[in-house]
Amino acid sequence: MKKLTIVIPAFDEEEVLPSTLQRLLKIENNLITAQTINPDSNIIVVDDGSTDKTWSLITEANKRDSHVAGIKFSRNFGHQNALIAGMTEAVKTADVIVSIDADLQDDPDAIPAMVHKFLAGTDIVYGVRNNRDTDTWFKRTSANLFYKTLNLLGVKLVQNHADFRLMSKRAVQTLLQYKERNLFIRGIIPMLGFKSEKIYYKRTPRMAGKSKYPLKKMLAFAWNGITSLSIAPVRTVLLLGVFASLLGVIALLYSFISKWMGLTVHGWSSLMISIWILGGFQMISLGIIGEYIGKLTTETKKRTRFTIESKIG
Ligand code: UDP
Ligand code: MG
Repeated sequence: MKKLTIVIPAFDEEEVLPSTLQRLLKIENNLITAQTINPDSNIIVVDDGSTDKTWSLITEANKRDSHVAGIKFSRNFGHQNALIAGMTEAVKTADVIVSIDADLQDDPDAIPAMVHKFLAGTDIVYGVRNNRDTDTWFKRTSANLFYKTLNLLGVKLVQNHADFRLMSKRAVQTLLQYKERNLFIRGIIPMLGFKSEKIYYKRTPRMAGKSKYPLKKMLAFAWNGITSLSIAPVRTVLLLGVFASLLGVIALLYSFISKWMGLTVHGWSSLMISIWILGGFQMISLGIIGEYIGKLTTETKKRTRFTIESKIG
């Protein structure tokens, strides 16, 4: 029988974690009783530098039920790194891994169906939400814009899929070979190949507590997704630059001709406009190029993606 490990990233989730664990343990237990998965199947909670009671809740849960294990980061390293740490640990013993948020916005009842797809030979099962009405208007619109932009830039993403997903051992092992520090997992998964399927579920509101993705973090996450998966922005800037220079040449010819014909040149406005537009282009270009150079710098440093302070179970 195959061993399943559920990986949960948790950052200040004391309000939801106990009920999340209870719910997921029940689902795993049912699968164990039905002899669908190995009795060793477990849950790994990765405490991403929480400042509340999250870690003590994990250790207590482990005392009550050894099926719950925990990894504690030395500080907050972010959702994506928490997932990677959990998977790195899980893949040592598990045959199949499911990642799910701590707030139960993703429907845990979709997990058995995911597992059955895996047993039927699928390596990656994407959890896809078939509604977004529990998100705010702003979140829905910005998320849509983000997916559209990435699609335009040639990055393949599964629409309305976040990090609720099942992966086989070999798929996780392949993912772990992607060593970039600026990791945007959901953008990498479609590049792995392997047989994949989708499972649709209804996304519910966060059970309790606040979103751990305030606007600033969300924007940083989206921008990181774009610049770590696509170099299209720099290319676009290059094209804009070429276009702007062509316009400059035309303007030059025009001013020569009008001078030669003795027409009055009202130079001021056109001069100002071109200075501002070109200046703007240059600043945007430098900014975007700087962003990629910054990424190169962090990648070449080969810093660790996370530091584990302690483990349990
Ligand atoms: N999370 C994390 N580290 C962070 C931010 C979030 O581990 O720095 C976890 C969080 O505990 C949750 C998941 O990532 O399990 C998704 O976060 P959240 O539900 O707050 O995001 P939202 O659903 O609002 O986009
Ligand atoms: Mg959430």
